[in-house]
Amino acid sequence: MALIEAGLTALAETVPAELIGSALGDELAELHRLSTRLSAELSRRLAVFHIRGDAAADGMLSTQSWLTHRLRMSRAHAGQQAAVAAVLSKLPGTASAYAAGALSIAHVAVLARGAERIGIDTVAAAEPILLEAAAVLDPAGLRRVLTHLRHVVDPDGADDDAAAAYERRGLWCSPTLDGMVVLDGLLDPDTGAALMEAVNSGPPPAADDRRTPAQSRADRLGEVVRDWLAAGDATDNRGASAQVTLTADLATLRGEPGSVAAALDWIGPLDLSTARLIGCDCRVTGIVLGGDGTPLNVGWRHRTVTPAQRAALTVRDKHCQALGCDRPARWCDAHHVKPWYDGGRTDLNNLVLLCRRHHRAVHRRSWRIEPLGGGRFRFQLTTDRATADEPSRNPRAG
Ligand SMILES: [Zn+2]
Ligand SMILES: [Zn+2]
Repeated sequence: MALIEAGLTALAETVPAELIGSALGDELAELHRLSTRLSAELSRRLAVFHIRGDAAADGMLSTQSWLTHRLRMSRAHAGQQAAVAAVLSKLPGTASAYAAGALSIAHVAVLARGAERIGIDTVAAAEPILLEAAAVLDPAGLRRVLTHLRHVVDPDGADDDAAAAYERRGLWCSPTLDGMVVLDGLLDPDTGAALMEAVNSGPPPAADDRRTPAQSRADRLGEVVRDWLAAGDATDNRGASAQVTLTADLATLRGEPGSVAAALDWIGPLDLSTARLIGCDCRVTGIVLGGDGTPLNVGWRHRTVTPAQRAALTVRDKHCQALGCDRPARWCDAHHVKPWYDGGRTDLNNLVLLCRRHHRAVHRRSWRIEPLGGGRFRFQLTTDRATADEPSRNPRAG
């Protein structure tokens, strides 16, 4: 121990910045191997500690609780250490690869957890093949190999595990104080794969798209969900209940001073430009106007794009009409160039297809749209303000 301590003290006195070229990366790899060897020595001693039951002598119920209390390890880390300690002596090939620094504790823990489920004898019999796999795979990859092994040797057990895991599925959506929504959930493999396919698919990003991949996935989820709601609306087989309702006064949408905020189902009060964006295309949003005696002089016929108008708009525009954007019509909103709440008509001369990203930019007034007649429009940048969901400045604009 004193020798290791002296070596570490000498190491702490070296200056990493002096290592140039690949020398620093080589040293990181070497230090990783050495720290794995140290970790293996800890596990080798912990295995004896575990088998002798020394934790009980210290007044603890298990090796894992001894590790959390005495060494202040997290429960997850202590569980990993205890699982490894319990099987190390029964997997000699694994123990020696670990001791040589060729196998990380995360890999050994995957084998240990596998042994808990499939049985130590099965894992010991397959050890040479598992070690070959461990040499080239990360811990998640090794876990998949063990899952396959489980399906081969114990299909009923694997089925039972899947059934138990399925019971843990759930989805939680909670609005935050600033009107965003936090998603948290656990999905079964089928639903999870479908969701991942849905949010990762779609046309490639436009040239002016500066969103992060996470922002793009969030937007894509919005398109998919709104498309589903719109399809329900069109075929009328999912009921009128599958519609989000925006409650707003005309005075609010017109931005008159002193008017109350518009409110969205599930979420609550909204800022003005978001309320106008949502209220613009009533394809998936129902609108309740009034509430404080405001005359309801704008009926739904005056603001809702009919299926026939939508079809004609699709034929005319084909895709989002913002410069350089080819997001297909299916994912676009029908934007009222002159807002319906200001007397704009719901007819083709006043409607233009915009993808949600560009529609939002228009309602944030980063862009102004001028009708040129005959269903053609000119886009003009009106502000220097730029965020990831707004188009970058384009010299052809205006
Ligand atoms: Zn709009
Ligand atoms: Zn667009």
